[in-house]
Amino acid sequence: MSLVHITIDNTPMEVEDGALLIDILLKNSIKIPHFCYHEALGADGNCRMCMVAIQGQKRPQIACDTFVKEGMEVFTNSPIIQSVQQDILELELINHPVDCPICDQAGECKLQDYYMDYGLHHSKVEIADKVSHSKHVDLGSEVMLDQERCVLCARCTRFTSEITKTHELGIIGRADHARVSTMPNKKLNNPYAMNVVDLCPVGALTSKDFRFAQRTWFLQTTSSICHGCATGCNIFIDHNKEKYKDDKIYRFRPRVNKDINGHFICDVGRLSYKQLQTNRQEDTLYTTEVIEQTLALEKFQELKNHSKNITVFVDANLYTEELQAIKKFAKDIDASLYCPLDVYQDETFGDAWLKSSQRVANAKAIELLGITTTISPLKNIDLLINFNHPNPPKAENSISFQTHQKQKATLIFPLAVFSESSGTIINKDNISQECQKAIFRNNPIPTVLEWLEVL
Ligand code: SF4
Ligand code: SF4
Repeated sequence: MSLVHITIDNTPMEVEDGALLIDILLKNSIKIPHFCYHEALGADGNCRMCMVAIQGQKRPQIACDTFVKEGMEVFTNSPIIQSVQQDILELELINHPVDCPICDQAGECKLQDYYMDYGLHHSKVEIADKVSHSKHVDLGSEVMLDQERCVLCARCTRFTSEITKTHELGIIGRADHARVSTMPNKKLNNPYAMNVVDLCPVGALTSKDFRFAQRTWFLQTTSSICHGCATGCNIFIDHNKEKYKDDKIYRFRPRVNKDINGHFICDVGRLSYKQLQTNRQEDTLYTTEVIEQTLALEKFQELKNHSKNITVFVDANLYTEELQAIKKFAKDIDASLYCPLDVYQDETFGDAWLKSSQRVANAKAIELLGITTTISPLKNIDLLINFNHPNPPKAENSISFQTHQKQKATLIFPLAVFSESSGTIINKDNISQECQKAIFRNNPIPTVLEWLEVL
């Protein structure tokens, strides 16, 4: 890689020869407004917001279509550039409905931010003279379009034409009447469609699932990993704990990891947060009766001490640290340990991009820890201790540590889900990744490690 010397706003820099100027600016946290450029989609050059002045050039140039070269002198905030930025924003806003107070994108809108940073102009167009478009277009795939708020950056249309290659979206009409639309007789319909909501820099595309559920400035964000399949896409968990209520997840969003998911996630993974907060196992039960935790621990010891042939099952969604601890626990009580993986296989789910047919997050750790994944029919199990495996065998007595109300057992303990705990998972390509604890419940549900400490 050869390097060249440039200056940006009089600061000398050494950068990669031939790199795109906008990438250099963004990488160095130099403010450069832009709507249409996106790292995953490349340059389109249609919004003109990323204008910069370059020494020796008569006119301002767009940074998304300029490649750096030796000796280049760039100015991002000279008086001429400030005036150009203000003019472009005024143009963008000519027909904008200025309905920010009721817009669900408020707080995350580039148009709002740029108006405050670069605009602050007085509109020469009366609201009554603005060209109106449809405000509630159901595009399909949980996505709503407000055509009036659109800045025609073409990120959404480029996503469907260049990334998913499903070609559902296009821009139709000319001049003031240009608008985003689905193609005739088509709906937005692909397994990654909801990424257009994240790509849209303004409030034109919103998710039906999230819109009006929560104001974005109330949300806290925690880095995590999707558990929807073995790919291990990086996500943000956006959640909020309102006074007296439990911490609640409102959405998953993609988090950039160029080695795994790039900038995107699939829609199934995106909406999988709902499973983390429905039908949860919260009580300790003995033969279906709710009992105190201390009594449940006594019952656990009784069942264990009266059983000779003990089998332990584990879920391949548990963290690596939890699997290691369960392996040691099984060894200490002289039990055999299993995690059949066939139950997680779903050939209808996988594709050639992100989605894996192995619909479990940490199967790799099961393999690496040498936990048995195939079983011949198990007979005469005196006691089965199941750590959340979805398909355990029958046994005379059973103890189930479970996240959801799904299995019957002699003794049931509630278990934290991944968002209520922290740990490591290893994806199908052997990449180990950490998840942070996002959710702090008013009445915390113990994790595997916490249960094992008191057993
Ligand atoms: S809907 Fe959003 S992403 Fe699509 S062109 Fe308009 S502003 Fe851009
Ligand atoms: S591809 Fe798999 S890991 Fe990625 S978001 Fe979808 S379900 Fe989650």
